[in-house]
Amino acid sequence: MLSPYIKLNDNCGLCSRLRLANSDKDFLFDGGHNLYIFKSPFAEKWPGALMPIFKRHIYEQSDIRPSDLPDTLHTLVCLEKALRKVTNCKRINLVKFANISHHLHWHLIPRYHNEIYSNKCSWELENVPREKIYSKIEESLFEDTSLYEKIRSQALFEINNRSSPYFGCALFLRPCELELRSKIFTLDLDEIIKLARDNPEKWECLLMKRNYHDFAWDFIGGNCEVNEYPEFGMIREVKEEVGWNITRYKEVTRQWKMGAIKGIVYLAIPENQHYMDDEPERVHCAEVETVKYFNLVEIMNSPNFVDSVKGRIKAFIENKADFDSIDS
Ligand SMILES: [Zn+2]
Repeated sequence: MLSPYIKLNDNCGLCSRLRLANSDKDFLFDGGHNLYIFKSPFAEKWPGALMPIFKRHIYEQSDIRPSDLPDTLHTLVCLEKALRKVTNCKRINLVKFANISHHLHWHLIPRYHNEIYSNKCSWELENVPREKIYSKIEESLFEDTSLYEKIRSQALFEINNRSSPYFGCALFLRPCELELRSKIFTLDLDEIIKLARDNPEKWECLLMKRNYHDFAWDFIGGNCEVNEYPEFGMIREVKEEVGWNITRYKEVTRQWKMGAIKGIVYLAIPENQHYMDDEPERVHCAEVETVKYFNLVEIMNSPNFVDSVKGRIKAFIENKADFDSIDS
């Protein structure tokens, strides 16, 4: 859907196509928050070619607002996935010109196995007729009247089956010694981090036991929503799971798995100072059975904690900005 709040330009050809998309023979589908997907003019020679048009009148990719970037990139990647699956092409050219229409749009052009000029760009072949582009013409693709319907349904499947990319979780620390606990509120985050790293055996962190799955002890926090930055995911999850508002936080380590970031751990301080009590005041949500403080060194040496919990503590103590994990 085009939001009524989207500002279009009366003098722009692509803005008119967006506005009149429903009566445009080349309009294919709504590609999420930021893109409408049209058949590209390159489709005449490269069947399957797509033209995603940004839903606002902007010119460059660098004009995309930060909050819209993940969704936009995700949709572009889903279009690529759909093209590869449906057309079995050799590769995909993704281009952004906007030389004629000064309105951000791209062309995704599937390039096929039996092209004669496979090392040339599609736009260099403007004057080469379709029959001269292929050593053996892709008849099944050119004649497939349901080709774009297949691409549409595959792309929408990819777009709608996105999963949240990261988790954000909170490291709630307190000194073991009772007298020192209130001191934490006079320290800045870097001082707390240094004290805990220097003497981890004298510090504890709060973990929760979930009400489902394996009932393992885990950090408070969880998976981010689509397009939600991990720090905001952490703040939201803490609020949902225990009801606390985070006032100060700082990233302490990133957890990786198979070459991709899984999530980010933040040292976090809530506004309610009772979070350091043995049985802290909290909202009781269905998901969290109980919360408890554990000594940092004990966590690392005990078989009662899963590898990701140990890994986060170890990376924090050893001042490792990144660590690799094997479990979730
Ligand atoms: Zn426009």
